Amino acid sequence: MELSATSSGNPGTELVRAFENAAIPVFFCNSMGAISFSNEAAHNLLGRRPAKDDRWNIPGTLFEPDGRPVAPENHPLAVSLSAGRAVAPAEFMIRCADSGVKFVVIHCAILESGESAAGGYYTLTDITAYKNSTQDAVLSAIVESSEDAIISKDLQGNIRSWNKGAERVFGYTADEVVGKHISILIPARLQQEEETIINSIRRGEKIDHFQTRRLHKNGHEIDISLTVSPVKDKFGNIYGASKVARDITERIVGEESRARSAERILYLNTIGRTLSESLDLQEILQKVTDLTTSLTGAQFGAFFYNQVDKKGETMTLFTLSGAPREAFEKFGFPRNTAVFHPTFSGHGVIRVDDITKDDRYGKNAPHYGMPQGHLPVTSYLAVPVISSAGNVAGGLFFGHPEPGVFKEEHEDLVTGIASQAAIAIDNSKLFEEVKTLSHKKDEFIAMATHELKTPLTSMTGYLQMLQLKISEPGQRLFVDKAMNQVRKLNAMITDLFDISKIQAGKLQLNYSRFAFFSFLREIIESLRTSGMQHQVHYEQPAEVFIEADKLRLEQVLSNLLTNAAKYSPDRKQIELSFEVSDQLTVHVQDRGLGMEPEHINNIFNQFYRVESVPRNISGLGLGLFISKEIVERHHGSIWVKSVKGEGSVFSFRIPLAPEI
Ligand code: ADP
Repeated sequence: MELSATSSGNPGTELVRAFENAAIPVFFCNSMGAISFSNEAAHNLLGRRPAKDDRWNIPGTLFEPDGRPVAPENHPLAVSLSAGRAVAPAEFMIRCADSGVKFVVIHCAILESGESAAGGYYTLTDITAYKNSTQDAVLSAIVESSEDAIISKDLQGNIRSWNKGAERVFGYTADEVVGKHISILIPARLQQEEETIINSIRRGEKIDHFQTRRLHKNGHEIDISLTVSPVKDKFGNIYGASKVARDITERIVGEESRARSAERILYLNTIGRTLSESLDLQEILQKVTDLTTSLTGAQFGAFFYNQVDKKGETMTLFTLSGAPREAFEKFGFPRNTAVFHPTFSGHGVIRVDDITKDDRYGKNAPHYGMPQGHLPVTSYLAVPVISSAGNVAGGLFFGHPEPGVFKEEHEDLVTGIASQAAIAIDNSKLFEEVKTLSHKKDEFIAMATHELKTPLTSMTGYLQMLQLKISEPGQRLFVDKAMNQVRKLNAMITDLFDISKIQAGKLQLNYSRFAFFSFLREIIESLRTSGMQHQVHYEQPAEVFIEADKLRLEQVLSNLLTNAAKYSPDRKQIELSFEVSDQLTVHVQDRGLGMEPEHINNIFNQFYRVESVPRNISGLGLGLFISKEIVERHHGSIWVKSVKGEGSVFSFRIPLAPEI
């Protein structure tokens, strides 16, 4: 049908008649946009009739589908008229008088009057229902496929919807819970949480990632992270809440187990450190017993040592934690019964939830189970402690009156500690052996030096008599040489004797006040007479007085000077230098063998000798140890600086005597 319009843009009578009662809303406008006609269906859609001045559409009603308002000049009919042809139908959103929102498709048509466009009309096809149905379908598909529980509830807390995720997380189907109060999911002690949540929702506030616990249908609690948001109607009124709950039990369990293993590593480190700090067996095992008892939550813990006691029994109670010793006295445990055999033989751990239920329990004389008056024991954990050589050093035993107290993690923990304890036990045993050997050595040295001194003293006496009797120079030389060797032997025995005195804490000092430099001159002189060929050079400062044990200090100086000579066989010069303040420092320098830096910390230890020293330079490695002891007993210090192949400077410092 050809449509035409009057020149004023009013539709012709046939057209008006065609649209007047049509179900489709229509607006006619002239070329300036003035609305010349709109039908009943249009008024019903928008909720009112256009006003006299309205152009193209009723103002404030037309929007793009994304909500941006459409300006009058962009109205599809305005665009069609200025383009001279109808634009393609397009989707718009309109706001109706009741402020409801509808989605429409606008179709335009241009009305011709002679040659020019006199105006046009447009129809609005309501597609709201279709749009909503597709949006709802998308939304519910999202909700249904979600792994999280998505629940909606009204402001009274009644459940309104329940997705598949909720079914999985809480165990209830939608039929079982929709219409019920949300409190069925909340543990009794957390019921007040719901009120707090609902109050926030009423205020329009969202609750984000709130970690809490909820009840599964099977009665177990689950850890969840909750996000609750207010649900508003199209006017912005809050009428309920949507709840997204994520099951985080696995995450929490993972975090807890990570925290537990971190804690376990910390414990093992601590115990490792503590054990390595001690060599005392009693102390080590008490620490191990105390720590493992508290870590396992045992009521008592004990270490049984695999040592044969006076009665010939092997596992003897060594350390105990959590119970008095008397509590164990009447108790035959742990005997090598069938139940505990694996621990005794080192084959493995025994962890029993209820020992009284074990078939083998209660079969052994004399008690047939627990003796009367003994601690009630139901849960048992027994872990063998095996030494590095593979021997069973003992066993750690734990007990608790409740059943099922000890878990796998306790078993692992104690096994870890037991292997560290085994090392500590081995070390402590070795240390004991070394101590015993060292003690025997000290006893031997003390005895041997005493026995050697006696014949040496008489030899010295006879040689002195010979020196007086023999005047013939050739023969005299032999006697002098013999005398020199006896002197050396005597010095060595004296050193050994001093060592045993130092070890027994019996090195006595007899203090006197004397002038240091004249004392030094005498020592150098006596060394020269006894054969020292090195020249000793020094510039003597003003005399100073010291208060010291003269004989012992002579021992220090002789040792340093003899060493300087002994270890510089090719350079016959020794330099002495001094520093005087309220203390006296003496430096003895040679240009001899020197030594590598690694020896510097060791040469003051007894029996230490630098292995590269030529074989013909004899010594016992005791002089410096004794010198250090003497200097330190004089409240002084001794040290060395040395360069291999260039020589050494040995120095000591002692306080000057107070002024009189
Ligand atoms: P000894 O000389 O009897 O071996 P000491 O205790 O006096 O025992 O000295 C310990 C070790 O220190 C010596 O064996 C030697 O290796 C080293 N030593 C001591 N004095 C010197 C020195 N002046 N130059 C180089 N090495 C030295």
